[in-house]
Amino acid sequence: MEVIFLGTSGSMPTNKRNLPAVAILRKDELILFDCGEGTQRQMILAHIGFNRKTKIFITHMHGDHVLGIPGLIQSMALLGRTEKLEIYSPPGMKNFVKSISRTVKFTLTFPVEVFEVHEGIVHQNNEYQVQAVQTSHVIPGLAYALIERNRPGKFHPEKARALGVPKGPLWSKLQRGEDIRLPKGKIVKSRNVTGPPRPGRKIVYSGDTRPFKVILKLARKADMLIHEATFADELAERAKRDGHSTPSQAAKIAKTARVKRLVLTHISARYANADILVKKARKIFPRTQFAEDLLRIELPYAE
Ligand SMILES: [Zn+2]
Ligand SMILES: [Zn+2]
Repeated sequence: MEVIFLGTSGSMPTNKRNLPAVAILRKDELILFDCGEGTQRQMILAHIGFNRKTKIFITHMHGDHVLGIPGLIQSMALLGRTEKLEIYSPPGMKNFVKSISRTVKFTLTFPVEVFEVHEGIVHQNNEYQVQAVQTSHVIPGLAYALIERNRPGKFHPEKARALGVPKGPLWSKLQRGEDIRLPKGKIVKSRNVTGPPRPGRKIVYSGDTRPFKVILKLARKADMLIHEATFADELAERAKRDGHSTPSQAAKIAKTARVKRLVLTHISARYANADILVKKARKIFPRTQFAEDLLRIELPYAE
């Protein structure tokens, strides 16, 4: 699983930073958190194709987080995409997508399915689930956690052999967590030949928000917390007023939630250099960094 920061600026783009979007490449799927204007161009620069299985999770209906959707949809259609596109968002997205397709003339070659969602589990499948909690911004918003399901434990061939299971397809079944029946009728349970289940990975994305308590639970022991840090610590009052956070506030959340690493994003266009902002935050939580556009981070399984 790879995390690619497509846009790391808040509100306005700068010459170095595009508007908010985080791409997660997981197997053959693209999961996008937010889709700021110009996200499609950043996807080209990051060599992410437009034809993948894609889900977009929108944190809130502010322009800097959603205005990339029309262009992205249009390019996907031009390329003849046929795969369904799923968009998860707080209320407002259905109207937004409807008005684009009514007013802007392009022909959709694929279905766009919009799910207007609220706090709780907003999506789940065999491999992962996405949970959301309400943020503390100036309009309703959601922070998301992508949580992979546990994987079956490590397979022990010697145990399988000892129970009389011949090497071959039955081994793969046991490895995947399935119980099997031997030709003579004996049942072999997967848990008797594999180790304890291994935890999946967890990525949490705050969206725009003041620091808030509920995210501590959502982010608990996450492999990566991606948190906004729009204003420097010195502007904490301004941040509070505008519904944003500072690097030190995000670092406190990372520390309390005991995450493995913290990546800050959504920096105000007023700061040319994020390095100075991150210093104090690192004293609170050392594994903190500021994202740059097109930064890629590989997220391996914890072993
Ligand atoms: Zn924003
Ligand atoms: Zn906002």
